[in-house]
Amino acid sequence: MIRNRQELDKMRKAGKVVAEIIAKTREAIRPGVTTLELDLIAREVIRNRGATSNFLNYPGASGPFPAVICASPNDMIVHGIPNNNPLNEGDIISIDCGAIVEGYHGDAAYTAPVGEVSSLAARLMEVTERSLWAGIDQLTSGNHLYEVGRAVQRVAEAAGFSVVREYVGHAIGTKMHEEPQVPNYWPGHKGPKLAVGNVFAIEPMVNVGGFATKTLPDGWGVVTQDGSLSAHFEHSIAITDNGPEVLTDGS
Ligand code: MG
Ligand code: MG
Repeated sequence: MIRNRQELDKMRKAGKVVAEIIAKTREAIRPGVTTLELDLIAREVIRNRGATSNFLNYPGASGPFPAVICASPNDMIVHGIPNNNPLNEGDIISIDCGAIVEGYHGDAAYTAPVGEVSSLAARLMEVTERSLWAGIDQLTSGNHLYEVGRAVQRVAEAAGFSVVREYVGHAIGTKMHEEPQVPNYWPGHKGPKLAVGNVFAIEPMVNVGGFATKTLPDGWGVVTQDGSLSAHFEHSIAITDNGPEVLTDGS
């Protein structure tokens, strides 16, 4: 799917809202805060910017998703439902968030430390974020999509970590999840050729232990099967004549 200039402008607006959600929730992360409080902060940004949520009421096997962010602590990989449990010193927390502006979607995620964390947790977050940027670097016109996963996997595995297979990135536009999917590992071939106007959400999920996952009884939360820590970083990125343009980066 090729997005024209007007569409990209709308996606930039959606990306700005997502970047603000990231900034404001990140600021609030500390021991004692609950993930429901973080969800409220995100709801306020979405309302103040005249945007709508692409996470709230997202359909799932166990019913619609009840929040505007996913909040996934420690060994939880993705899709955690925000709750009233306070975060503890030493936790890591993955926040996945999105917004819709004028019909166009933004989607991004980050993992943050709660207070002081172990050196292993800090290294996992650093490596996962670096793997995201290695993937983003592959988003240039004429390159092939699955080079993204090859680059992500190389960074994560060089550090001794593993890349989740069951959950992947995706194209994004008038829907949050559009085809094609973007694996975070090398699937054995180069995949579709990239062109200016393509927009993707790249989102490596990296585990300290094995890549196997399991879904919690609530039907949403996904955790590592071996209980090891997991981190998740994501941006929405447009391919332009000047290379990748990260739409959800507030900096
Ligand atoms: Mg996301
Ligand atoms: Mg996504």
